[in-house]
Amino acid sequence: MDSYVELYRAANMIEAHALKGYLEQNGIMVRVLGEALGGATGELPVESQEVRLLVEQCHQSRARALLNRYQQDLAPWQCAACGEQNDGHFEVCWRCGAEPEA
Ligand SMILES: [Zn+2]
Repeated sequence: MDSYVELYRAANMIEAHALKGYLEQNGIMVRVLGEALGGATGELPVESQEVRLLVEQCHQSRARALLNRYQQDLAPWQCAACGEQNDGHFEVCWRCGAEPEA
């Protein structure tokens, strides 16, 4: 039997599926819990749902490492050249074009 453990609680379904896609690209199967809850109770706003991502226990440590990298990729960074705050998806500073320090 597969043994699944909770990896992460997402704020909403959009975040959950973005992360699920990222992990699956890296070869880790993910189960998303929470999306089926609405069946009997009607339509809940997406924000109020608790969405949990589960991974197989044997992949847990690798999944956590990927999760950290994913979150770092999204984290804002500060330009060393001009001090501007940049969103994580910018590869160079939007203001002055400098690259972030490694
Ligand atoms: Zn800059």
